[in-house]
Amino acid sequence: MGLKLNLNYEVMTSLYLSVNSDFMFLVMIGPPGAGKGTQAKRLAETLGLSHVSTGEIFRQNISRKTELGLRVKELLEDGTLVPDDLTIELVQDKIDQLVNGSGAIFDGFPRNLEQAKALDDMLLLHDKGVDLAPLINLSDSNIIERLTGRRTDKDTGKIYHLIYDPPPDNANVEQRSDDKRDTVLRRIEDYHQSTVPMLAYYDDRDLLCEIDGDNTIDQVTTALLEVIRGRVFA
Ligand code: ADP
Ligand code: ADP
Repeated sequence: MGLKLNLNYEVMTSLYLSVNSDFMFLVMIGPPGAGKGTQAKRLAETLGLSHVSTGEIFRQNISRKTELGLRVKELLEDGTLVPDDLTIELVQDKIDQLVNGSGAIFDGFPRNLEQAKALDDMLLLHDKGVDLAPLINLSDSNIIERLTGRRTDKDTGKIYHLIYDPPPDNANVEQRSDDKRDTVLRRIEDYHQSTVPMLAYYDDRDLLCEIDGDNTIDQVTTALLEVIRGRVFA
């Protein structure tokens, strides 16, 4: 009999700690605010994988005022996607290190068909491929509430929500400059235009698995661990 989705997060975590896998590569897909970052951080810790968020890398470059940061600053503030060549180059730089580890969870990349194909090409060069593409679904109306309440700890990068996962009093939190209503609407539009057409690419190879992002954070983690256990460790 299979494990049920209501096994709690701690129990699932301890089960995973006893599992050995050679290499695992996951791509987390979902609209802005669906919980990709929150879940990717938890899964990376539980499964011992590297977590790569292209959005986080861009934001770090912006705050360090690097050349890349200066090039992408306005795009991120407007909620516009960074051009594919720049984004793919950024990922290419990471892949060579990542393939030597136990694997990775990508969050926010790929975001369109071109990026998905480029990622496969990069992995193929190392005889690797995407093992699973979890899609966290969330309705457009819930996205706004998620993003306007999002706060990030400046020191640790931990993600909080003013209502659903409130930061402790001593946390040094900030609001992302692209989490304003107008910008959020543009990002939702981009998701439908660029990312949704990419889903078939993974679905055709039976790699896509849909998770309801409207459950609690713990329930979503448990559902993800359950799917990964069934698909990757089978
Ligand atoms: P969210 O988690 O809300 O979806 P991200 O942190 O993933 O946001 O991305 C923030 C911004 O960084 C995006 O709006 C876009 O400007 C840029 N970005 C991140 N990943 C990509 C990507 N794969 N392709 C193009 N732009 C990206
Ligand atoms: P994404 O990376 O997909 O843009 P985040 O992980 O940053 O999404 O989550 C967006 C906001 O929603 C954050 O404030 C986070 O604390 C909150 N959040 C994430 N998952 C859930 C959930 N299942 N229920 C309620 N709030 C959530």
